[in-house]
Amino acid sequence: MRYLSTRGEAAPRGFEDVLLAGLAEDGGLFLPAAWPVLSPAEWRGLRGLPYPELAARLIHPFVGEEAMSLATLRGMTEAAYYGFGHPAVAPLVQLDHRAFALELFHGPTLAFKDMAMQLLGRLFDHVLAKRGERVTIVGATSGDTGSAAIEACRDREAIDIVILHPEGRTSEVQRRQMTTVLAPNVANLAIQGSFDDCQDLVKAMFNDAPFRREMQLSAVNSINWARIAAQIPYYAAAALALGAPDRPVGFSVPTGNFGNVLAAWAVRQMGLPVERLIIGSNRNDILHRFLAANDMTMRPVEPSLSPSMDIQVSSNFERLLFELLGRDGAATRATMERFRAEGRMPVPDAAWRRAAALFHGFTLDDAGTLAEIRRLWEGAGYLADPHTAIGTAAARALAPADHAIPVVVAATAHPAKFPDAVEQATGHRPPLPARLADLYEREERFSLLPADLAQVEGFVRAHARRNA
Ligand SMILES: *Cc1c(COP(=O)(O)O)cnc(C)c1O
Repeated sequence: MRYLSTRGEAAPRGFEDVLLAGLAEDGGLFLPAAWPVLSPAEWRGLRGLPYPELAARLIHPFVGEEAMSLATLRGMTEAAYYGFGHPAVAPLVQLDHRAFALELFHGPTLAFKDMAMQLLGRLFDHVLAKRGERVTIVGATSGDTGSAAIEACRDREAIDIVILHPEGRTSEVQRRQMTTVLAPNVANLAIQGSFDDCQDLVKAMFNDAPFRREMQLSAVNSINWARIAAQIPYYAAAALALGAPDRPVGFSVPTGNFGNVLAAWAVRQMGLPVERLIIGSNRNDILHRFLAANDMTMRPVEPSLSPSMDIQVSSNFERLLFELLGRDGAATRATMERFRAEGRMPVPDAAWRRAAALFHGFTLDDAGTLAEIRRLWEGAGYLADPHTAIGTAAARALAPADHAIPVVVAATAHPAKFPDAVEQATGHRPPLPARLADLYEREERFSLLPADLAQVEGFVRAHARRNA
């Protein structure tokens, strides 16, 4: 499989380069040169497979036989999903006559990012070992992404990982999910400063070219194509279970950086009948404004009860834009540059109409989110986190007119990850799952440093096992 950049200037790459590089050198995002398309008979043949088997078969075309055999990839998907808290990995729960929650939060950190990250850590390790290389992953977190990255990289041979968090400014659950991982290749650094200070330190390390080379710095950010590819199988699994390819489905996805909903769109590119894609937003509603009125205008980010969707610019949207513009890299580059410069994305009317025919936007404020959590609890006995609740409200408001079409809502976080909002809405405090119940008793390990680049670089250098 070859990959193109959305900005049209970088040379085509194979999967391994795309995995390790993340971003293309012309600043664009990678997309497959051609989508693998399955026939209806091939889709039917995948019904009822265990999740790791389905995942290996659907991801393998994006990896390619030259990079890795199906058997090798299957070994990785089996290991990645082995420790999940539900034997179905991503179970479907029926909410009403046509809406289903696709629970993506049974991984180690209780949020959907584990679905991709657990596989990504193993893919990185495999490719690095094959090339005889090592990397040091550094990242800054205000809470959730750090723990998913740490769980994905712990105990991997070719990876060291250092995650910076602002001292005292993450919730205790979030901190403990990072600091109680005592693997030798994991280090947590509490910085005496804000999340912005942490992000600035990470940027400064990447901008320090000699340090970057010495440490082989790397990141596992949300624009990495392998993360999107690893999110495709659960949408396919849900659609197949509900009768696809012989029955169409809709998906409702609480959306931030547009990665998860892009994977739902990808199964449509691969031949499944996806009738509609519903995008749930909180008050940060840039995607809703775009789909309703072709108005993609940046506004300041406002905090909400669904913090993983508090975004201003959805970085993965560029991939859809590239397709909407007929895969014209020069036009995509010009559109993105004007967006950065002017704060408003100039999408041609015809391209916007194509997007708005398939994608439908929905926005809900915090009061509406709490009301929806309460409604689900009282009506269906279902405890939903604030992100998931925006998805279920969106599904109800915007389900396709044909009532024979089921709507699958991506349930992106476990309710126990946002216990305050859930308790406020329902009076019921969701307990942590049994495998995490002792989180508050586990030993923590982290170091504390001021927001000082030289000291942080010294720490990273001492931690990286290449020097051991
Ligand atoms: C990351 C995240 C989202 C947003 O997903 P994107 O792929 O960035 O659109 C939604 N809900 C939760 C709980 C998340 O952690």
